[in-house]
Amino acid sequence: MPYNLKLIAKKKKIKYFLISFVDFFGVLRAKLVPAQAISEMQKDGAGFGGFAAYLDMPPSDPDVLAIPDPNSLIQLPWNPEVGWLASDLWLHGKPVQASPRIMLKEQIKLLSKKNLYLQSGVECEYFLLNPEGTEIADKFDIASKPCYDQSALMRQYDIIKEICDSMIKLGWGPYQNDHEDANGQFEMNWNFSHCLATADRHVFFKFMVKSIAEKHGYRATFMPKPFLNKTGNGCHAHLSLWNKSKKNMFINKKDNFGLTTLAYNFMGGIIYSAEALTAWFNPTINSYKRINAPVTHSGATWSPNTITYSNNNRTHMIRVPGPGRFEIRLMDGAVNPYLLQAGIIAAGIDGIENKRNPGKPIFLNMYEDSHKIKNLKKLPSSLEESLNFLEKNNVLNKAFGKDVIKSYIKLRNSEIENYKLSEGSFNSDKITSWEVKNTLDC
Ligand SMILES: [Mg+2]
Repeated sequence: MPYNLKLIAKKKKIKYFLISFVDFFGVLRAKLVPAQAISEMQKDGAGFGGFAAYLDMPPSDPDVLAIPDPNSLIQLPWNPEVGWLASDLWLHGKPVQASPRIMLKEQIKLLSKKNLYLQSGVECEYFLLNPEGTEIADKFDIASKPCYDQSALMRQYDIIKEICDSMIKLGWGPYQNDHEDANGQFEMNWNFSHCLATADRHVFFKFMVKSIAEKHGYRATFMPKPFLNKTGNGCHAHLSLWNKSKKNMFINKKDNFGLTTLAYNFMGGIIYSAEALTAWFNPTINSYKRINAPVTHSGATWSPNTITYSNNNRTHMIRVPGPGRFEIRLMDGAVNPYLLQAGIIAAGIDGIENKRNPGKPIFLNMYEDSHKIKNLKKLPSSLEESLNFLEKNNVLNKAFGKDVIKSYIKLRNSEIENYKLSEGSFNSDKITSWEVKNTLDC
């Protein structure tokens, strides 16, 4: 056993472990296990009733076992006697194919057969709200162009500092924190790394922000569009493929955008499957009020509505901010951190294998001038629409298996049914109470 959690607990004074996993809807579920029982759990896993989570398992199934990955251990910076562990789900002696972390690990394996691995960074935006979640926490944060507002940022210094200090302590390499484009909205950036580490950190970051905000008497939300007239919560991802000698295989200084053919093909694969990926990247009913949104209070939505790419131009789905990487701006705060990375790899591998061409870059301001170009591919306008694309997409069905895709669609469809029962038809004029109840803590 590479890491003996019992010995680590002794050394680091950990009294309890959170053995946790993320289901299809990105809900973080856990058991709190005393350190004295961790040896058995490390070997055999902690048991969960799969039916109780969003995993499409019948109640008659035996316990699904969450086997912790000791590499993922994080001591809660705000309560170091607790150690957090991401884990992999097993059932009947095999990894559960229809579980997000396993899905990502399978794609990482496939990519490594090409001597490649994905390095990624995510930019998680969030709002600080009052504890009820009904309005932003800071009454004085009312500027009509609040982005980078220094005073509004510094009024939340205690919280921002505690989160940033935590990331420093954890060795994530945080490097900037800012007030974002909506009143009450913030973003904090840390270094990119291997996509599995980034996914685990992404999961933990959301848990940490919510926990620290709660400690300070606030509520943090990653909900894609909590307020109709304000910019929504994006979760942009920056990507590059590296080979096993740790060389960035996307960088080509001779190209105008600084990208290799491999990078264009990888991007081509993502563009090819973009409508289907939207079902993962924008997974909630509320998500579609962020993409395809009307102009916000600040003047822009900062989210894409067409499947296009450009240079350092934030109005497209894909932006190439500099040589050797590109950014996908489609995902929102509700995205499942593992499906985010897994979907990128699956679509990207398809792009490499089929030499998919992303087409020509477009240099227009897409918020104003997209009508100038005919036959542009548009993003789906609802969750139902994107689920239809996912169902038909050959790339993702092949990469993850038809049954896995079916399970995801089934769970999301039942959510849509639930919405309709409560709210009737779709309502684009307001954020419904169903959305708030079901998405505020996403
Ligand atoms: Mg941002």
